[in-house]
Amino acid sequence: MPVTVITAKPSQEVKGNFRFIGVTVNLTDPVFRGKHRGKQLHDDDFEAVLDRSHAAGVKSMIITGTSLHESKQALHLAAKHNLYATIGCHPTRSTDFDKYRGGPEAYLAALDKLIEGHLTGQGRVVAIGECGLDYDRTHFASPEVQKIHFRSQLTLAKKYHLPLFLHSRSCHTDFVQILREEGFGEDGGRAVGGKGGVVHSHTGTAEEAIEYMAMGFHVSVNGCSMKTPDNLAACKAIRPEWLLLETDAPWCSLTSTHASKPHLDTLPPSLRPLYLPPATQPHRFVYGKPVKGRNEPCAIGGVGWVIHELHEGAVPFEKIKEKVWRNTIELFGLEELKDTQ
Ligand SMILES: [Zn+2]
Repeated sequence: MPVTVITAKPSQEVKGNFRFIGVTVNLTDPVFRGKHRGKQLHDDDFEAVLDRSHAAGVKSMIITGTSLHESKQALHLAAKHNLYATIGCHPTRSTDFDKYRGGPEAYLAALDKLIEGHLTGQGRVVAIGECGLDYDRTHFASPEVQKIHFRSQLTLAKKYHLPLFLHSRSCHTDFVQILREEGFGEDGGRAVGGKGGVVHSHTGTAEEAIEYMAMGFHVSVNGCSMKTPDNLAACKAIRPEWLLLETDAPWCSLTSTHASKPHLDTLPPSLRPLYLPPATQPHRFVYGKPVKGRNEPCAIGGVGWVIHELHEGAVPFEKIKEKVWRNTIELFGLEELKDTQ
């Protein structure tokens, strides 16, 4: 893809109320408490991470639940910090269903009960997931096991009329087949009680993104969705009305080796320190500074900027960000955020 470099606009044009809602933040990850791969490498700086996200215009976040246990943690954090959570089981964790006391049915019933108890108010559940399929990591759970528990979680979305929060990695054919068989083949499954959803961290092709949109699903992108020129073409194929932005923090950073780099290079100097503040190595940790290798919710603006650049300046950053803001509120029913400035 040709690289288009536009001149950074005058600072008064890029200043403003750039508001975001962070979809997909894994705030339950111990790395936000200073624990990297099981080792306490520095102080707990969770509050500093939140402060940086606020400075970057992140008005709220949806914390990802990736298992029954972590969904409970996500709800707890969401209630404490006035955020939102998802409830579900990630495909790589799907053996949890079988290991659970009482078996898979009891695990699904426990997820169901958790959803039922958190449908309203501060820190509520706003989506079912993270669920889906991941054929890059079948060493955690075989495709057969993943498929069974992906399908079973779709019943929860129908029952509670909640959007799906979907993970799809190297599994497109099976993934859409299950969605179609369960009634989610069109209009986001509204005919069977569903309420659409989002395929997050899109790393598939442009054609796959187009198929999700045709089925009535939003597509969300992060740094991992911008690694290669093909990835960028897929990002560009997402129509504004179906686009969501995310970081997947602490994973999926925008990095200098990715195809997104030249597009990020045009990030105006007024925004760069907000979205991509300079980071230090974990062993040189300084409270108040990000840590290298740990993506943060504040980077969402950088992801939005790359999308803006991919449209070669034809769509103002302001417009993309506002469209995504409204998409996110509408999809997840976050009406109370509507007037947040
Ligand atoms: Zn995922």
